[in-house]
Amino acid sequence: MWAESFPECAGTEQSPIDIDSGEVDAAIEQLKLEKRGAKKSAGIAVDYAKSTTVDVFNNTHTIQGNIPVGAGSFSIGGDTYDLLQFHFHAPSEHAIDGALHPMEMHFVHANSDGDLAVLGVFVDEGRANKVLAPLWADLPEVGETRRVEVTDFRLSRLVPKKPTSVSYMGSLTTPPCSEGVSWFVLNEDQEMSEEQIGRFEEIFSGEEFPEGTRRPVQPLNDREISVTGKN
Ligand SMILES: [Zn+2]
Repeated sequence: MWAESFPECAGTEQSPIDIDSGEVDAAIEQLKLEKRGAKKSAGIAVDYAKSTTVDVFNNTHTIQGNIPVGAGSFSIGGDTYDLLQFHFHAPSEHAIDGALHPMEMHFVHANSDGDLAVLGVFVDEGRANKVLAPLWADLPEVGETRRVEVTDFRLSRLVPKKPTSVSYMGSLTTPPCSEGVSWFVLNEDQEMSEEQIGRFEEIFSGEEFPEGTRRPVQPLNDREISVTGKN
């Protein structure tokens, strides 16, 4: 349906995808073989501020936090991507062997050429997330245009400095579904309490976009997935 207005949504390199753990294991083995001869590993280096302000708002299909310029970036292979914003999906958009996580956070970045790269972080149900607690204390509802400024936001605690990730080329998961987005789905998960997850689900009534926050998995087609980072 999106493809009627946004032709790229019918493309062959769309996100999210279902990640086959067998394929990930094979990629890890390949990485180990390559590392025996390599001097340096080709991982992600994340540089997020210990403390920053965040401009939080409800964009009608998720809660988004805009980050000030310079507060976050990551680099891979000599290329640096600056953090623009982060937002949430419940349940997760990416799947592992068909299984979803309760939530997924997306950290959206762009490099100086305007190419996008997203770090995806799965959220499991567990202990209350203290970093996100200040946001959750006052989440704007759908239709509310107010913006909430959160100060002393402990950004660096949400993503490890040197994460391992499953990487592939994909797209934005909302219209216009633009392709050419580098995806890094991290192996390290975050935790949020049942109450925190429930509070988010309450705001967005359905499971799938546009009522909910999630786009179903898309065909992998002939794309390759790889693994980045230490193993
Ligand atoms: Zn997203």
